[in-house]
Amino acid sequence: MERANIKAEQGTQIIHLEVGEPDFDTPRCVRDAALKAMGEGKTHYTDSRGIPELRDAICKHYRDTYHVEVERDQVLVTGGSSPGLLIAVACLATVSDEILMTDPYYACYPNFVRVVGATPSLIPTGSDDGFQLDPAKARKAIRPCTKAMLINSPANPTGVCLDESHLIELSSLGLPIISDEIYHGLVYEAQQHTILEYTDNAIVINGFSKAYAMTGWRLGWLAAPAPIAKLARTYQTQSITSAASFTMAAGAAALNGPQDVVHRMTAAYAERRRFLLDALEEIPGLECPPVEGAFYIFPRFTATKKSSLEIAGILLEEGLIATTPGIAFGQAGEGHVRFSFATHMRDLERTVERLAKIVPNL
Ligand code: PMP
Repeated sequence: MERANIKAEQGTQIIHLEVGEPDFDTPRCVRDAALKAMGEGKTHYTDSRGIPELRDAICKHYRDTYHVEVERDQVLVTGGSSPGLLIAVACLATVSDEILMTDPYYACYPNFVRVVGATPSLIPTGSDDGFQLDPAKARKAIRPCTKAMLINSPANPTGVCLDESHLIELSSLGLPIISDEIYHGLVYEAQQHTILEYTDNAIVINGFSKAYAMTGWRLGWLAAPAPIAKLARTYQTQSITSAASFTMAAGAAALNGPQDVVHRMTAAYAERRRFLLDALEEIPGLECPPVEGAFYIFPRFTATKKSSLEIAGILLEEGLIATTPGIAFGQAGEGHVRFSFATHMRDLERTVERLAKIVPNL
């Protein structure tokens, strides 16, 4: 991103496919709700767990979407899903503990774990197993110091959804699961399942950044067994106190309001995904995992020995396309490059044209 931005500052037109951020504006009704809340003077400290209206909307969301009962005292509204993840890790692990996760992983995960003095324990996945976390491998990796397993479905960077059978088996391992469900709502051909359908021994993380195009609002939540939610609240009270009052009012409006805007955004991503999957399949030397959700495609460059960093460098220099090298997501990401399709179709068409010229010469 930095290298792309330097080029852009020098006047070069770059296609930005490196950032994991919706290209849509936050829906109008959500913005209006924030303005209304500010106009009504809702600008004061709130309950550190979040305003009741939003926590109830989150409980209703679980009931309506997954037929799962979540009580208000299980919900903590956080300043985005990132702090929710950090708090979840801090609730379950400390110095010398381990947390299981797949490789490739969302680049921040190992850092959330290291911050509390614990160690990420990586389970490699790849194109061969469809980037699925094999429950048998997870079972084998469990040691006395393993305190939780961190899963992400749909996943960043692969776009892969964990099979329901895997979710069920992973839930039966007796290990607490931290389930990052931030890309729920952006699922194309698979069925989306929250881990809470299969186990109560879980902390679920979600938020508004992706499905509602609200990255800058910094609003998310965690849902956990009540005693863990209570501990999580302590971390929150002693750090940010609470999410912002009028932002939370906007979040409640997002969940309670009409969902047609969200469906329109998802439909646009679905169209781009179809276009990219079909077009990249035609380019020899590229192999794409099945993208079932999120807005990423993670092709493997099969006809070159160059590293993902070198490939991303060439794509930037020769194709003026900014991407993220697979190595940023772990050793198992080597040989892959992540493209975000949270961008205009025109840019994706240009990307495919340029890839068709660059890939054969890699
Ligand atoms: N989890 C994953 C897998 C993500 O990709 C991201 C953002 N890129 C986050 C969490 C953080 O999102 P938020 O804006 O809610 O902090």
